[in-house]
Amino acid sequence: MFDALSQKLKLIQEEAFKELSSLAISPAINEKNLEELKIRYLGRNGKLTEVLKDIGGLSEEDRPKIGQQANGIKKTLSEKINSLLYSLKEEGQKKEFQKMCDTSLPSRTLDIGKRHPLIQTMEEISHIFSRYGFQVAEGPEIETDYYNFEALNIPKHHPARDMQDTFYISEDVVLRTHTSPVQIHVMEKFKPPLRIIVPGVVYRHDDDTSHSPMFHQIEGLLVDREVSFAHLKGILTYFVHEIFSSKTKVRFRPSFFPFTEPSAELDIECVLCNGKGCSVCKNSGWLEVAGCGMVHPKVFEAVNYDPQIFSGFAFGMGIERITMLRYGIDNIKLFFENDLRFLRQF
Ligand SMILES: [Zn+2]
Repeated sequence: MFDALSQKLKLIQEEAFKELSSLAISPAINEKNLEELKIRYLGRNGKLTEVLKDIGGLSEEDRPKIGQQANGIKKTLSEKINSLLYSLKEEGQKKEFQKMCDTSLPSRTLDIGKRHPLIQTMEEISHIFSRYGFQVAEGPEIETDYYNFEALNIPKHHPARDMQDTFYISEDVVLRTHTSPVQIHVMEKFKPPLRIIVPGVVYRHDDDTSHSPMFHQIEGLLVDREVSFAHLKGILTYFVHEIFSSKTKVRFRPSFFPFTEPSAELDIECVLCNGKGCSVCKNSGWLEVAGCGMVHPKVFEAVNYDPQIFSGFAFGMGIERITMLRYGIDNIKLFFENDLRFLRQF
């Protein structure tokens, strides 16, 4: 009895594995016929179960042996069927995926971020001055009237305040109209000699193709003993030759700023028409790029520097203007629209 049952189980096992192997390599294989095969052998009325119905006729000693044999068959068969079912499902998902997307299409290029052209110019200018020992200094964008105006020799009711269209937060607090208040902060903290370069955002009530209510300035200050206007001219000429070209001509034109005396405008030969005259330079052949001058003694007095001992110069320029001239950009708004087609060109 035992031998007969064991033999039957062996035959069932052989039969099942044979059937499964031929199904596995057949193109007709699918989840349905795999499930059917499983039920045919392992189901409640399956072949294996049928054989086990006769187990009652065995001795107590033999029963577990047959049980063990049957369980072994059941286990290996289920495992093989399950693994085939799993790969079938995976295959199906792959096909679904391929139907959804075209894997033969070329992949998208990665967009790598870049510095904004204004930041690039700002960093380049800072770098040029750093070769002369200037260190970068920064200050707050919200200022008190004192730092933005008064300490810079622009007292209340001074007509020079009309030159700057100020955004007032309260009667005494403003959005800084220039980076010059940083000069005062630095001179209050440090004793001369000093050389600083101050890049930053400033605000003025002005809005057209060459003005934006928020724009960037960079400002320089050098204080030491026996500093002269010749030093100022030398450093700014060097700067123009570095940022534009070594052939760019410069000229210094007398001007007025409350915080410098004497004051000058730095002009360069028009980079667009090479001095011949065009619409950008209003046919003058020259372009204004920076304001500068020797630090006014009143500014030194505000920070307790002795103007009898120390002298210095300061200069300031608009980053937008320099960038526009370098790249021939005619509308300041382009810098702030964040159009990638524009920004990618730099
Ligand atoms: Zn021109």
